[in-house]
Order: sequence, then structure tokens, then C-alpha cells
Amino acid sequence: MKFPKKSLTFLEQYLNTSSPTGFEREGQKVWMDYLTPYVDKIEVDHYGTCYGIINPEAEFKVVIEAHADEISWYVNYITDDGMIYVIRNGGSDQMIAPSKIVSIHGEKGIVKGVFGWPAIHTRMGAEKETTPKLENIFIDCGAITKQEVEDLGIYVGCMITYPDEFFEMNDRYFVCRALDNRIGGFMIAEVARLLKENKKTLPFGLYITNSVQEEVGLYGADMIADTIKPNIAIITDVTHDTTTPMIEKKKEGDQKCGDGPVVFFAPSVHHTIRELIVKTAKDKKIPFQRAAASRATGTDTDAFAHSNGGVPSALISLPLRYMHTTVEMVAKEDVGNVIQLIYETLLEIKPEMKLKYH
Ligand SMILES: [Zn+2]
Repeated sequence: MKFPKKSLTFLEQYLNTSSPTGFEREGQKVWMDYLTPYVDKIEVDHYGTCYGIINPEAEFKVVIEAHADEISWYVNYITDDGMIYVIRNGGSDQMIAPSKIVSIHGEKGIVKGVFGWPAIHTRMGAEKETTPKLENIFIDCGAITKQEVEDLGIYVGCMITYPDEFFEMNDRYFVCRALDNRIGGFMIAEVARLLKENKKTLPFGLYITNSVQEEVGLYGADMIADTIKPNIAIITDVTHDTTTPMIEKKKEGDQKCGDGPVVFFAPSVHHTIRELIVKTAKDKKIPFQRAAASRATGTDTDAFAHSNGGVPSALISLPLRYMHTTVEMVAKEDVGNVIQLIYETLLEIKPEMKLKYH
């Protein structure tokens, strides 16, 4: 899978810009800069959700959506001797914290710190190994008093991200923290680019939407669904590659990086839109996989589906390895195929489509 140089440059810059939940501004700036030439208009809402519009005057509205935020931590408590205890901002994983370098977003700019951990020597002889828990992981930023921490501009409520950056592995995978779901923002922006470059005209308004605050409860999508009031929404997010060690397929399903986009089946997923996606994949020979979700999909699909008295919505997911770690991996091939599948599906959508089940 070959991506144009400008697309890859954007992806790298976008991923390397931290965009923690509730403070997505810097990432959104990068995203909007890239998207601007491909849309007629760009909007930002009060909480930072951004959307580019093609055909803003059209009555029938279709959303393609991803989420802009990345999981992070909050400074929760600073000890008298300058250690920092944290709480989650999204589903951050305590298991991978020890020995990670961190960026603390302080009032005077970014301060480097580390998640410390007692040496193996000092833990030996203990009856049971202590595992990392939210209550025992801590950040050392080199300060020896609480005052020194505050002098660095670090207070309770500051956000903490990981500085891990983008790279390609074996020409097959993209690797980075926050591929969940910055890769989604990349893919929907690429759809807009393709529509523009291929001079496609759509019989509806297209709202390319990058929502904030997904990781803490789909809040950005909740808000923007009410603002845009779309007729149809197609959401893209990541899902688990379940073929790596220690994952139970009977429970998590069978999805694999490299085998194509994952089409979800769930109550919030509208049959007509989903079947259009499946038919498009078959017609255009785009490989795809199927997955089911009981009750909720846990993605912004639910927020759109449940808004405005029910918006026909569907979910096209990208398989990803090691979700919520700093080494998330996605197959380049799948990224290209998700872009293609969203693009081709949009070309099939007609405002006069029958969307009511009966
Ligand atoms: Zn996530």
C-alpha cells in the first residue's frame, strides 16, 4: 500500500502532536490545516470538535466521523517530596506505565518526567509480586519538594501524555501511540482528498467530523450529532486484532490486521447502511471482516445512532494490535482499504434512499 508523500507527512505530524482528551486543540489544528483545501467550509464547536463540510447548503447530510482525542493521565496528587500520583483520562493502562517517559503539560510548557518503579532487586523475596495499579504508579519529574513541582508549572489537573512517535515497521505496519483514533482522522481526511482530486460531486452535504472526548464517554460525538443533525453517519474507529497472544477469540471475535476493514453488527448499526457497505465492499472487491457487538459498540456510532430521535449509523473499524499501549500497530493495507470502502460507499448514497425499517 503506497500513500502519497503529503499524506504520510500529515499522518506523521498529526500523530506526533499530542491531543489528550479534553485538550485536543493542537492535533485539531494540524488536522484542519490538512483538510481545508478539500472542503468548502470548516467549523469548530465550543468543546473543540472540528468538521469540514462539502456542499454546506445541501439539506440531506451525511457524516463520516472519527475521534480526535488520545488517552492520557491527570495529575491528581503531589506528595511533599515531589512525587506525582495520577488518575486516568480515558482508558490509560497502568500495566505499561512503569519506566515510561512522560510529557507533563504544565502551565509553563511541557515538562519531562518518568513513571518510576522499584528495582527488581528490592522486590525480591516478596511473597507476591506487586503489580502496577492506579494507586501505586507514580511520576518522578526530578523535583524533591511539592514546591519544586509547582515551580515547574505542574499543578493538579495538568495532563500527561507519552511522547512516543510514529514509525513504519517492516513496510507493513504503522506504529505509534494514539493510532486510536488519530488514524481515523487521517482516513476520513483522505476520503475528502480523494473526492476532491477525483472531482466527484455528491448529491448531499458531507460532514467530515473529528470529534473530541470519545475516550471518556463519546461526549464530543454526542454534542456534534445534535449540532449537525445528520441523516446518515458512518463512523470509523479501531478494533482489536485478536490473533496476537493471550486474546480469547471465543470472547473477542476473530479480526486480524491485514485482512481488511471490519464491518460491525450491533443494534445501533443501521441495517440498510451496513448492507450498503457490505455490498460496496463486494462490488469493489475490497476485503472486509465481520464483527459483532452486544448492546453497544462502545464507539461514537452509539452517540450518533441515539441522537436526534435516531440517526441511521454504521461502523467501519480498523483492526489494531495492542490498543491503549504506546506501540499500537495497524496494517497499512487495511488503512488504504478503509479509506477506499468509505469513499466508495459515499458514492452509493442517495438522499432518496429508504431508511425506515418498515
Ligand atoms: Zn480508545
